[in-house]
Amino acid sequence: MEKIIEEDRQGSVLLVGDQRKHARKLYIESYGCQMNFSDSEIVASILVKEGFDTTQELTEADLVLVNTCSIREKAEQTVRKRLEKFNAVKKVNPSMKVGVLGCMAERLKSKFLEEEKIVDMVVGPDAYKDLPNLIQEIDEGRNAVNVLLSKDETYGDIAPVRLNSNGVTAFVSITRGCDNMCTFCVVPFTRGRERSRDPKSIVEEVNELWAKGYKEVTLLGQNVDSYLWYGGGMKKDFDKATPMQKATATNFAKLLEMVALAQPKMRIRFSTSNPQDMTLDVIATMAQYDNICNYIHLPVQSGSDRILKAMNRLHTREEYMTLIANIKRMIPDCAISQDMIAGFPTETEEDHQDTLSLMEYVKYDFGFMFAYSERPGTLAARKMKDDVPEATKKRRLREIIDLQQKHGLYRTQQHIGKVEEVLIEGTSKKSDLHWMGRNSQNTVVVFPKEQYTVGDFVNVKIENCTSATLIGNAVGFSE
Ligand code: SF4
Repeated sequence: MEKIIEEDRQGSVLLVGDQRKHARKLYIESYGCQMNFSDSEIVASILVKEGFDTTQELTEADLVLVNTCSIREKAEQTVRKRLEKFNAVKKVNPSMKVGVLGCMAERLKSKFLEEEKIVDMVVGPDAYKDLPNLIQEIDEGRNAVNVLLSKDETYGDIAPVRLNSNGVTAFVSITRGCDNMCTFCVVPFTRGRERSRDPKSIVEEVNELWAKGYKEVTLLGQNVDSYLWYGGGMKKDFDKATPMQKATATNFAKLLEMVALAQPKMRIRFSTSNPQDMTLDVIATMAQYDNICNYIHLPVQSGSDRILKAMNRLHTREEYMTLIANIKRMIPDCAISQDMIAGFPTETEEDHQDTLSLMEYVKYDFGFMFAYSERPGTLAARKMKDDVPEATKKRRLREIIDLQQKHGLYRTQQHIGKVEEVLIEGTSKKSDLHWMGRNSQNTVVVFPKEQYTVGDFVNVKIENCTSATLIGNAVGFSE
């Protein structure tokens, strides 16, 4: 009898021996944010239970699923190009079925079937539990669509099947959806209203991951600071909760503490934060527990109050700078990264200079910077003309990226001469003789392999750096 490959939370066997040989082959491709990659692991878990076996070989797939992103036009173009490629594969594998998942599926709904003839099935981010039924429909030759958004689905009862995992780090989703209607963002329309997952099931998943040898988890959500568990249901209905539910509710700071205490040796990260929802008790909890990493991804999008208002970002430049000052006061070596948009409608040169001066104030460790891309259905698309010329958008984006590069180097240079605790994740992309891992600040560290191995916590003396990577030598195992 072959070795058991995976067990779910109830311990029931998923797929063994001959079943595996005759299993239908599932190929999943994911695009976009970490939330999508985490969702693909939920989808794999649901379908492995239905007798599918995951494969990395597109040509041998019975079912191909593309987990799509809709955050920018370019992301959707990437998916369309990929679907085109599948036409050639379908010629050699005509029984292959193609399904699209994620935000683009939710945004386009059944229109996706008209626009992309190779697609048989369209499934939104909240409808993955309906996949077995939808697959039955396409097996019977019909197209299948389910893009219903949910008020309470968090997939908290499903144990993800880790895909392309390094066996060391894993994502654990804690909330779904977003209630912040930033005018440029498609997420509230494609992922629905905010709802949080039961903290017990989150801690259970973290404990299982530790038992399987994982050493780091990233708690995931579009807006983790808004996490609030009060027995289930949408965040926006919290005011209708009973006094007992309100008194015993778990907010993000409490959840962080629960996870930190549950596995004191497990490294804990979280993403993505929103400045308007981040509270000081979260920072205080980070400062209190060594296993919560000193790194915050804190998107700001613009440094101009006028543009922040037009984006419906519910904080001012000043409030954001105060938050940064509090983070640096409470956790002096905390690394901070940003999201920035160049060329939002009506952005003037002065607004752009405000963005550059805010970056000068924070000196971010790294960032994700893009030119404004109008998203259909968003408030900005409906009410604001995309009036900043492409050339101006490009020039401003270039200036933001160049400044970030300079600040990135300023930040990495501060690590030279220091000894940093690094968790080894795998072999460096640039050299087979070197390990890559990350320090608490989420900065990549590269050093010679010696006697260490993947999953080890190693103290590394930093000797040199680039604007994004630290280079050093191991000086021993970390206690
Ligand atoms: S916080 Fe704003 S940018 Fe982030 S997912 Fe929500 S709506 Fe989009």
